[in-house]
Amino acid sequence: MMNILEAICKDEGISLHGVDFLRKTQGVAMRDPDEPDTKTILYSVHAEGWSKMTIIAHEIAHHVLGHLDDGAMAFGDISNKTNPIRERNEQEAQVFATTFTACAMFFDYYKRGGVCA
Ligand SMILES: [Zn+2]
Repeated sequence: MMNILEAICKDEGISLHGVDFLRKTQGVAMRDPDEPDTKTILYSVHAEGWSKMTIIAHEIAHHVLGHLDDGAMAFGDISNKTNPIRERNEQEAQVFATTFTACAMFFDYYKRGGVCA
């Protein structure tokens, strides 16, 4: 069964891959400037549960918010203070990811009957 992250990636034409070689970050979003339709996300297979969702949602944000239109790669470094545009992009992606995950957590809680009527 496809989860919501896989469905979004499919709809947005993003290739999603779990890998075990990421060391300094847990997710990467990439786009080839010569092939604009080539969108890729790599995430650490060691991430689980809500953390995994947040990591992938963060990388989806870089694609859907146009942060990679110049073909750059986006690593999960929110502390990049040397480039104001990249810093802003990281903050935008993190807001997207945390909001997305919070909504998913609420929906999961709601499905289990945890919301008072
Ligand atoms: Zn990022």
